[in-house]
Amino acid sequence: MPSKTKLTGRVVFRGDPGYDAARKNWDPHTDRFPKVFVFAQKTQDVSNAIKWARENKVPIRPRSGRHALEVNLSQVNGGIVIDVSEMKKIRLNKKAGTVVVETGNQVGRIAKTLAKQGFIAPFGDSPTVGIGGITLGGGIGPLQRTIGLISDNLLEVEMVDAKGRVMRANKKCNPDLFWASRGGGGGNFGVYTKYKLKTVRAPAKATVFSIVWPWNQFEKVLKKWQVWAPSVDTRLGSELTIGPKKGGNVSMLGMFLGSKTEAVRLLKPITSVGTPTQQTIKLLPYPEVVDFMLAPDPILTQRFSNQFSSGFGRRPFPDRAYKSIREFLEKVEGKDAGFFFLNWGGAIARIAPRDTAFYWRDPKFYVEWNSNWSKKSEAAKNIAVVRETRRKLQPYIVGSYINVPDQGIKHSGPVYYGANYPRLRRVKAKYDPENVFNNPQSIPPARV
Ligand SMILES: Cc1cc2nc3c(=O)[nH]c(=O)nc-3n(C[C@H](O)[C@H](O)[C@H](O)COP(=O)(O)OP(=O)(O)OC[C@H]3O[C@@H](n4cnc5c(N)ncnc54)[C@H](O)[C@@H]3O)c2cc1C
Repeated sequence: MPSKTKLTGRVVFRGDPGYDAARKNWDPHTDRFPKVFVFAQKTQDVSNAIKWARENKVPIRPRSGRHALEVNLSQVNGGIVIDVSEMKKIRLNKKAGTVVVETGNQVGRIAKTLAKQGFIAPFGDSPTVGIGGITLGGGIGPLQRTIGLISDNLLEVEMVDAKGRVMRANKKCNPDLFWASRGGGGGNFGVYTKYKLKTVRAPAKATVFSIVWPWNQFEKVLKKWQVWAPSVDTRLGSELTIGPKKGGNVSMLGMFLGSKTEAVRLLKPITSVGTPTQQTIKLLPYPEVVDFMLAPDPILTQRFSNQFSSGFGRRPFPDRAYKSIREFLEKVEGKDAGFFFLNWGGAIARIAPRDTAFYWRDPKFYVEWNSNWSKKSEAAKNIAVVRETRRKLQPYIVGSYINVPDQGIKHSGPVYYGANYPRLRRVKAKYDPENVFNNPQSIPPARV
């Protein structure tokens, strides 16, 4: 029986021109072949796509910025990808201090648009990550100690549910769905089409910094960083990256919402460690701060696949952990492989773990590590080394970040969501009892 509902928007079936371009995700080894991509132009196109998928029994994957870190999240064999990336409106209300963004926007586009108008929008370390996916899982970055996670800034969402109905959720209307949308992760409850976020005035200028050390000083630098970064002034966000032994270095990129003089003073404990080979600390107009922090990261030219794993540290690592980190960095060969740390605290810790779906509020820092490779034949050994390192670091970390998933983690629900997992399953049972929105790491509905 032909389906009642017709697909609308820009529709690309397998075999149509544009199909290969539509299949490209940030991960170049994405190996799924959906039946059709629908590039929605408006919310009604999303609604039609969901109804069509249900009538035709076709599995669904929502997609926004294509930055999923596993290949099976925003694409599925034989399915329909409901892609919102052509829905890119941004409406700033300066008086109310709010901005409504369609979920097809990339984080960098929002941050740059608002910065030019004197407002702050949160961002992470890549401008091309989609606001659609990043927000649902939390959204971490160098401003988080000042304004919280991206999801902490959400005031309201528009979402299309499994029946194709357009719903709204905020503190008063569907509050449980709103709670779950702030950290519960993408692909679980419906296809989100709009986010209303609060926004604050940006300072006219702020300070950025970039410090580089030789690789063999990583232990010294990391030891100091783990005590310094979580307790330094909360206007300072610091991303510490340690590359592979072969060709890598130690680099710290970050920003401080204050003067250069103050930044130099606050950075002193870390810049006086070892012998930095490069040191940039400069005051810039706020829009240039955003440009400095978000180096170009095009999706379609990415050549490396990655395996990530992530967690949170509640206290500085003991010496045994350093041994495992060193072994990992000596083994991995991909040029972008390594460890990445981001300081926690401030605004993140002011929200209680059960107040939103994002549970991991009290750690001192976030940590992720990844291997990367360009030939498919190198995948297995690279995936294995990341997972082996997780096993070794497990005693020193808690949880894992849903946006930086590792599908090797067994019984992962409580690892991603801590004590919020049972409630997330109940919200799932209420809004999507038939589990229409699912993927290999999605939240199963609670049994009622
Ligand atoms: C280079 C790079 C840098 C990154 N840096 C950061 C960072 O600094 N901070 C950080 O927090 N994270 C970061 N991430 C992780 C990122 O947050 C996740 O990969 C996120 O899921 C990407 O969202 P997306 O919309 O771009 O991806 P997509 O591949 O489009 O989607 C990812 C997931 O979200 C779901 N989803 C997407 N859009 C919607 C929607 N509209 N409605 C419902 N579900 C949806 C998808 O189904 C899928 O499960 C980074 C990732 C990459 C590749």
